[in-house]
Amino acid sequence: MVIDLRELLEAPGEQRSYDLDAAFPDLSGIELVSPVKGTLTIRNSRHHIVIDGRVRAAIHQECSRCLCEMESELDVAVEAFCPVEITRGGVAGRLAPEDDEQAALFGPTRLFVDELVRQTLLPATPMKSVCRDDCRGICAQCGVNLNEENCRCPRHPADPRLAVLRDMMAKISTR
Ligand SMILES: [Zn+2]
Ligand SMILES: [Zn+2]
Repeated sequence: MVIDLRELLEAPGEQRSYDLDAAFPDLSGIELVSPVKGTLTIRNSRHHIVIDGRVRAAIHQECSRCLCEMESELDVAVEAFCPVEITRGGVAGRLAPEDDEQAALFGPTRLFVDELVRQTLLPATPMKSVCRDDCRGICAQCGVNLNEENCRCPRHPADPRLAVLRDMMAKISTR
């Protein structure tokens, strides 16, 4: 999805608003399970194109304790900008990205909305999510999902390092 900024670039001081409601099937690094909704306001402040707004989406994740499939809701503020280079002899400008992040977002007169959504959602994606606060996870010994069934494994298995020590002590004392 691309937004053409030519008209806005010729109108310093003006702004445009966009409602977002679109599927983004190819965002690398993020697996969406819902369309992305939200609003974007794009403003020409003469020296910059400034974007703010908000996006909401559900993403696919795995519970970090029990590994079940789950969804996380994200609701994130959008912030981005790009310097405008005024072309000689006129007001019309073109965008002049200053770094790689801006260069991925902006063509000379265009905004790449997919990349904007990706750059917004990716840092907001939790590294560790749990399906519920009291998720009991998986038994480290038998692999049973403890939310679904109980197992007979001892809850606090003896520390294997202590077991080695105990064996050594036993050998010494029988000498
Ligand atoms: Zn879980
Ligand atoms: Zn077990």
